[in-house]
Amino acid sequence: MGKGTQAQKLVAEFGFAHISTGDLLRGAIAAGSPLGLEAKGYMDAGQLVPDELVLSLLKERLASDDVKNGFILDGYPRNTAQAVTLDGVLAEMGKNLDAALLVAVDPSIIVDRLSRRRACKACGFTGNDTMEVCPRCGGEMYQRDDDKPATIQNRLDTYAAKTAPLIDYFKGQDKLVEVDGQAAADDVYVQVKEVLGL
Ligand code: AMP
Repeated sequence: MGKGTQAQKLVAEFGFAHISTGDLLRGAIAAGSPLGLEAKGYMDAGQLVPDELVLSLLKERLASDDVKNGFILDGYPRNTAQAVTLDGVLAEMGKNLDAALLVAVDPSIIVDRLSRRRACKACGFTGNDTMEVCPRCGGEMYQRDDDKPATIQNRLDTYAAKTAPLIDYFKGQDKLVEVDGQAAADDVYVQVKEVLGL
């Protein structure tokens, strides 16, 4: 929670490519592709989309030119199998992961933030329910299907069962860095740059 906002800030300041598997999946859904149709059921249920579907989108994205100057993976890996796969994919590209960033937020705050979150249909800007139109482009703000109350608790359960074990995984590789995600986004960003040495 808060990872997308922090990734957007790093992209704006440092020009890294932003690779959000959630955005790639939502793009596939919007395009009406078979992969998108298959993914949507899992996403609306608050579950992880099967690894091979996400991997195919990720590999396609990593083949783009703009990743050459560095990139931020936002929302990937989400489980240990994906982390192992990622090592192999990056090795093939002659790269490796510099760091894994944990933006730590208490679950009760996550529920509140997600239920108030709204996103811009046109540009993807993330805001909240006080914004009637997008402050960046004037586009229509909407609530993601998976930010509806019924899905939020499932997403938290999925995180605890599947994604949280990555904390120890990356600690074991000496790659985990952590920030307190409960502060205001700009204050979190100050910490993010510090822990990443930027
Ligand atoms: P996000 O935009 O990162 O919050 O992701 C939204 C949803 O997309 C998640 O709740 C998952 O259902 C799906 N998703 C995003 N990234 C992944 C991933 N790496 N593996 C599996 N499912 C993913």
